[in-house]
Amino acid sequence: DAAGSTGSGKPAIRLRGLVKHFGDVAAVDGVDLDIADGEFFSMLGPSGSGKTTVLRLIAGFESATAGTVELGGLDVTKAAPFERDVHTVFQDYALFPHMSVLDNVAYGLRVRGVGKKQRRERARRALDTVQLGHLGSRRPTQLSGGQRQRVALARAIVLEPRVLLLDEPLGALDLKLREQMQVELKQLQRSLGITFVFVTHDQEEALTLSDRIAVFDAGRIQQLGSPREIYENPASAYVAGFVGTTNLFDADVSSRLLGVASEHAVRPERLRLSGAEDTEAARDGEIRLDAVVTETIYLGAGNRVHLRTDDGIELVALEQSTGTRHDADSAEHRGDHVTVRFSRADVVALA
Ligand code: ATP
Repeated sequence: DAAGSTGSGKPAIRLRGLVKHFGDVAAVDGVDLDIADGEFFSMLGPSGSGKTTVLRLIAGFESATAGTVELGGLDVTKAAPFERDVHTVFQDYALFPHMSVLDNVAYGLRVRGVGKKQRRERARRALDTVQLGHLGSRRPTQLSGGQRQRVALARAIVLEPRVLLLDEPLGALDLKLREQMQVELKQLQRSLGITFVFVTHDQEEALTLSDRIAVFDAGRIQQLGSPREIYENPASAYVAGFVGTTNLFDADVSSRLLGVASEHAVRPERLRLSGAEDTEAARDGEIRLDAVVTETIYLGAGNRVHLRTDDGIELVALEQSTGTRHDADSAEHRGDHVTVRFSRADVVALA
């Protein structure tokens, strides 16, 4: 099932039975996927899971071992990169060292025959978007890694391509700039209506930016869905584990807690903690456990509390700070005895 066609019109990208072998390695091992026009689509997965190779197959920098690539309804499986209406922002930027930053950004417009005045104007606007308007006259070698990465981004968006392929485009940025650029990227994508295919191994980035996410493992899509679907209903222990810390219950623990002998998971923020003086029995549809705090980790906006139940189940709870200074005093400490409650409805069955 490769959901994602918009119903009207052709998907921007359609992959069918896509396979890529490098010698013995099946980098991509049978991918079926439709990416809708104007969608912000992320490919999420650990290093080596095949995300970049899928991107390179879409761009035409690799040739498929089997399967097809369609762009806007056109079969481009055998087409050269320059024949495909996509633009790629690479991890390694690939800027021209002998040109100014502004000329680097304007270069693609020059190749397309856009006049000098207009091309400088558009290049300036693209540089402003990535907050580098003041550095247009510098050479790429006079920039930091993060600044070069933003120039590469400006160079792509100035062309307003139908499809933009981005391979970890924010990887070299510090956290603050990264968060700013995430917002800029999202707004840009929305206002230009460009289809974004975004490769990342950062689950939070994928969850915040994307319309849909494909979670990759070993060259295959393990799950395809909206950020909410992936986060709330991970299809497997692999996806649950990859998309943030979670409490995974194996068959044995599941059967003790729920009376069902198959894997389950519950999100750390769904656990409610109260003091040991809370002796009230579990309510309907609730699970209640006695536990001891093994570690409390201060996160700024809250605490991550590690727990071990009296019968040896390890749990993680996430507590949001309420913003009052008293919080610090009321936080659970190592060795505290606590009561853990969570709703059965928040326990997700894994495939
Ligand atoms: P990363 O996040 O590290 O970029 P990725 O998920 O993008 O990883 P790919 O780069 O697609 O993963 O690699 C998938 C697999 O294919 C890996 O095992 C990798 O070593 C292998 N691979 C990729 N490119 C080549 C190549 N040119 N020659 C041989 N093996 C390759």
